[in-house]
Amino acid sequence: MRSIALAALLATLPAVAAAQTASVEQPLLHEVVDQVEADRMRADITALVGFGTRHTMSETQSETRGIGAARRWTEREFRRISAECGGCLEIALPADTVTGPRIPTPTEIVNVVAIQRGTTDPNRVVVISGHIDSRVSDVMNFTDDAPGANDDASGVAAVLEAARVLSKHRFDATLVYAVLSGEEQGLFGGRILADYARAQGWVVEANLNNDIVGNSEGSSGVRDTTRVRVFSEGTKTVETEEQEARRRYNGGEVDSSSRNLARYIDGIADRYLANFDVDMIYRTDRFGRGGDQVEMLRAGFPAVRISEGAEHYDRQHQDLRTENGRAYGDTIEGIDFDYLTQVARLNIATMASLGNAPMVPADVAIEGAVRPDTTLRWSAVPGAAGYRVWWRSTTSPQWTYSRSAGAATSLVLEGIPIDDYFFGVSAISEDGYESPVVFPGPAGAFVSVGDPAPAAN
Ligand SMILES: [Zn+2]
Repeated sequence: MRSIALAALLATLPAVAAAQTASVEQPLLHEVVDQVEADRMRADITALVGFGTRHTMSETQSETRGIGAARRWTEREFRRISAECGGCLEIALPADTVTGPRIPTPTEIVNVVAIQRGTTDPNRVVVISGHIDSRVSDVMNFTDDAPGANDDASGVAAVLEAARVLSKHRFDATLVYAVLSGEEQGLFGGRILADYARAQGWVVEANLNNDIVGNSEGSSGVRDTTRVRVFSEGTKTVETEEQEARRRYNGGEVDSSSRNLARYIDGIADRYLANFDVDMIYRTDRFGRGGDQVEMLRAGFPAVRISEGAEHYDRQHQDLRTENGRAYGDTIEGIDFDYLTQVARLNIATMASLGNAPMVPADVAIEGAVRPDTTLRWSAVPGAAGYRVWWRSTTSPQWTYSRSAGAATSLVLEGIPIDDYFFGVSAISEDGYESPVVFPGPAGAFVSVGDPAPAAN
């Protein structure tokens, strides 16, 4: 009787609950989730706000005020974290001198990047990023106080906390902790990071860009501590016209590598976080707005923007002031540190999972037209012990059904017609870590040819 009742219960579970749960539950991911500390991120944001303004064009000589002092503080923080792991982090300061519509005079933009080399797959890179620069109402105002507690000291704090927690462990892939500058003046830090990644020859498997991740009370009055938005592009920025024509006909418009990275992050939240879920947003960014991940997408790298569920616009890009009893400005009082802790946990568990999983399979091909069966083939992934083929209804947001291919690099799904589903494949390590699912062909591939790197200056 009892087993019949259980079977009936399982049959009624919603399909989304099954999101990529074929992989083995990993104690390490619970462990790193438990190691995130709100107080350390409170100290980070307090320190960053303490520099008065971190505007990209603010002064760089002072040790107590401006963008120069803030980035040197960040570098010291990375060095301190590295000292505690036996020098496991390499610090790099990729920089460029730029001008633009929002930077009238040549200004040096400096990113602060910490690199934790992978043990067996060091050229494969998982990047977490946030931006250190801040602004007030007038984007050109580089002298007034611009605390930027939420936009985006919250993202920087998540980056630093990821380095603190994950540097205590070793991963197959390289983890990169990136604190970017020049975002508000035109996504310069994102572009400098993308150029640096290409110059290093990195295969960037994922960029988790955290921008505005610390507030849980929206302008509408809604308070939501249980939800974070993960924005992902549906079709690739770097798609060619020929690829676009094929994709428009055969599908793939909701299966870019970035979108399947978002699905993976959603699966991590379902499995490892309590009372916290990912709201996948099928957009590159918020309507009409942008972030540094856009520059990573232009370089052909899978990238998502992570942002709080309910934004408060009185606290974004505002001069510090009170009008009619209403307080404006991005101050630390607007940060919900328990909420920020959940977002940091999500990033950290995702990075640990990706870091220990094999690379996503490449050269994924699919065939099955005018046949009752569907066949997938892919190239063997170094370090993978096995593969799993996934499929879902064409209207389903999450991968729903799966079958192991064992160690083979092809699988025939008998009686499952290619016409009726979307398909993909993941790689699985010996100890049961699973990669994201990759959709066949160039529409889904995790390694793309990006735009040519812009000429220096
Ligand atoms: Zn921002």
